[in-house]
Amino acid sequence: MGIDIERRDYQLIIGNEAVEARAGKRFDSVNPATGETLASAAFGGPEDVDAAVAAARGSFTKGWARVNGQKRNRTMMALADLLMANLDELVTIEARDIGKAVSSVRAEILQGISELEFFAGASTKIDGQTHLTPFGFLNYTLREPMGVCGLIVPWNYPLMLTLRKVAPALAAGNTVVIKPAEESPLSAIFLAELATEAGFPEGTINVVTGDGPTTGAALAAHPGVNKVSFTGSTEVGRLILDAARTDFRRVSLELGGKSPAIIFEDADLDSAVPSSVWSIYNCAGQSCDARSRIFVQRSVHDAFVERFITLAGKLQVGDPMNPATHIGSLITPAHLKRVEGYIEAGREAGADVALGGSRAVVKGHSAGNFLEPTALVNCTNDMRVAQEEIFGPVATIIPFDDEREVVEAANDVVYGLTSTIWTRDVGRAHRVAGLIKSGVVTINQPFTVFPGTPFGGFKQSGWGREVSLDALDDFTEQKSVIVYTGDRPIDPFRLG
Ligand code: NAD
Repeated sequence: MGIDIERRDYQLIIGNEAVEARAGKRFDSVNPATGETLASAAFGGPEDVDAAVAAARGSFTKGWARVNGQKRNRTMMALADLLMANLDELVTIEARDIGKAVSSVRAEILQGISELEFFAGASTKIDGQTHLTPFGFLNYTLREPMGVCGLIVPWNYPLMLTLRKVAPALAAGNTVVIKPAEESPLSAIFLAELATEAGFPEGTINVVTGDGPTTGAALAAHPGVNKVSFTGSTEVGRLILDAARTDFRRVSLELGGKSPAIIFEDADLDSAVPSSVWSIYNCAGQSCDARSRIFVQRSVHDAFVERFITLAGKLQVGDPMNPATHIGSLITPAHLKRVEGYIEAGREAGADVALGGSRAVVKGHSAGNFLEPTALVNCTNDMRVAQEEIFGPVATIIPFDDEREVVEAANDVVYGLTSTIWTRDVGRAHRVAGLIKSGVVTINQPFTVFPGTPFGGFKQSGWGREVSLDALDDFTEQKSVIVYTGDRPIDPFRLG
């Protein structure tokens, strides 16, 4: 079965079947780069979430949880192969759905597939431990799947982030109900359809499309859901936690960021400049790990800014479907306005706009949400533009004098997702890496994740780790079994 990229009607996927929402509601998915309606999708309500959770429960009790590791591995690899075979179609659909440059979309979907392959391998290696006990006792641990997992995903990397959750959840023997973002409902549906083709038992992977307050909230609060894995804003993360309080449902959270790049005076600017440009403007700045606060030591500040602006000025803002485009559209007109509001707030607070600051005109795309790559200079760390997640192509550049000052400023923010250090001094690189409060620190390179490396946040950037084997801990319960192996009766009160 091939993927039809011109398909216009999408339904929910429940129990391996495409079904309409029970209330018959639908919503449109719009191509942000053109403003045109791309497709119509079913709008799942609480009763559809009930049905999806029941289907996932059915597979959990009778299907997937009973499949052994080798079979899980083969089925997950079959899905990875089908995703690879349909890569071009998936890239096209995703790029149209979110308006992001097609070259970025291809790279991120490949990353998602490699994470699926990584966890396919892990599915044959879920093991426990034995512990020292008093003589006559044996203690061992088991890792058991949690059950039905609700996976709530944002729009900025739809398929990659869905795979990031689906892969460890399935490897551990759970079944899932996916709630994609309302801005990007399409790729999750194709994923579930390909999963059926790959041989997943009925009800293992379900998709309920809809919005956050109705569909997402129903999934997050559903008593039949054992675990919620959420990626999105810190604000909605709090609502997910509230919903989980009643029955102490397991929750993991991948939330927002305001990540620093620190450029020391001995940095290799030939690498630091292009990498810093990529780290903020890739995906039009709509990345949780965007290094959006760039601290530059004063002695190299002007040279860095000049080179940064020259290079960023060469980025091509344009039609997302053109392979040469670096920066596509922002996700919605409302988000574009929000980002522009931040640029204005920066100006009012005394920052200078050294690059961009205006909407970009893209031929044939007058209804798109395009913004020029923007750099705010002469910023201070207490400005809103340095403290809040802008989630757009806006770099906030801040000068600093010494190491102690920059570590304090880098940590002086509610988030702690990623950070990047640029220096040739090995001791300083590791010293600062130890002092920075973030889940990921990268040194002299911009990449924050590879399959197998832990990814997750300190502070208000979240709970838990994804991508690495730690994710298996987040999708399993640990059981400690203690057994008596002695050859005499047990008499704890010593009555005999
Ligand atoms: P969002 O929080 O608005 O939405 C994320 C998902 O939650 C969507 O599917 C949405 O429908 C759903 N949702 C909204 N309200 C809900 C509710 N009341 N109950 C249940 N679900 C609800 O986030 P967004 O705007 O789609 O994504 C951008 C945010 O995601 C940014 O803050 C970004 O930093 C963060 N993010 C974090 C990571 C990470 O790995 N840490 C990765 C990507 C994005």
